[in-house]
Amino acid sequence: MESYKIDENGFYGEFGGAYIPEILYKTVENLRESYVQILESDEFRKEYHDLLKDYVGRPSPLYYAKRMSEKYGCRLYLKREDLNHTGAHKINNAIGQILLAKKMGKTRVIAETGAGQHGVATATACALMNMPCTVYQGALDVERQHVNVERMKMLGATVIPVETGNKTLKDATNEAIRDWCCNPADTFYIIGSTVGPHPYPDIVARLQSVISEEIKWQLEEKIGRNYPDYLMACVGGGSNAAGTIYHYIDDERVKIILGEAGGLGVDTGQTAASLQVGTVGILHGSRIKLMQTDDGQIVEPYSISAGLDYPGTGPIHCNLHDKGRAQVLAANDDEALKAAYELTRLEGIIPALESAHALAILPKVCEQFKHDDVVVLTVSGRGDKDLDTYLKYIDVMGN
Ligand SMILES: *Cc1c(COP(=O)(O)O)cnc(C)c1O
Repeated sequence: MESYKIDENGFYGEFGGAYIPEILYKTVENLRESYVQILESDEFRKEYHDLLKDYVGRPSPLYYAKRMSEKYGCRLYLKREDLNHTGAHKINNAIGQILLAKKMGKTRVIAETGAGQHGVATATACALMNMPCTVYQGALDVERQHVNVERMKMLGATVIPVETGNKTLKDATNEAIRDWCCNPADTFYIIGSTVGPHPYPDIVARLQSVISEEIKWQLEEKIGRNYPDYLMACVGGGSNAAGTIYHYIDDERVKIILGEAGGLGVDTGQTAASLQVGTVGILHGSRIKLMQTDDGQIVEPYSISAGLDYPGTGPIHCNLHDKGRAQVLAANDDEALKAAYELTRLEGIIPALESAHALAILPKVCEQFKHDDVVVLTVSGRGDKDLDTYLKYIDVMGN
């Protein structure tokens, strides 16, 4: 049987690997040689799980959404990552990587951020662990996401606005990598999604796998079997989706449906649907599908949701898509907005705009569902941060 897990060389099918500058080779090699042993040690597991429980607030509930189930003709359960401390799944990863950094003797943390969600999660973990933290963010994003910038500053992080390129996520990432190249010995680079050179996608997937670990026993408790018929999640870089499917990735009884950001439409050029419009290339040290011109220049992605506008998708999902293991659909801006209002009005849950892209896939796939099919959909974050956007459309969406 085909496995979709990582292979011994750090690839998922033809995707992944570690394409890094020579100067980082030793640092990444050191991480590659030690991460599995650290993550699987009793000491790490205990510290990590204690923090997930008492600090993050896990386990996150698996909630049976009755009215949504009626609407879509299935048994729909929502995995409530929106209820975590700091409001999304990203904290699972940030806490894990900072513990890893400490165990490796690193004394300084850097991160890149786009919308600021990963920056806030990292700054939070650094405050908790008394670790100096520098966050690179495109100058345009610093302007657009100023509440998150204030949060990071309040948490004690140094936010460096990046003035090069389009002044967005890709440029912030380049700057973070530049910093890492200058300070490889003492600095740990906390990457926020299942992207970047091997072993980062595997580290992030393992840390987020607490999501599917919980889904297993929560389903056993609720329905008497530990697997669903369908798993659904949104994909930007791919971390909440990777965590949602981790323990089921080779279990073909479980179908996987992923929602990426269509923006104004997959064919409009204003999109972030990189699995559907992307071509194979190397970004951020990894061989993935990304949005690029014929001569290899990165195309700036567009989505109404700041957390989904990465120009590529991590190697795990590129492979799942390529092999047909996952069904990948795009949800456009207007469909995501509509889905966010629907969940709010039917269940009293205001989701993050990113998560709304998973919800917006439901009407596109519900014809596949049989009435007693169990569908688990991960609500990756809460919508407080998106309120301005939601209010802008309330006349259209909220009647
Ligand atoms: C960052 C973010 C995402 C997208 O990132 P993934 O790595 O694909 O999970 C999705 N939802 C929320 C709430 C986010 O903050």
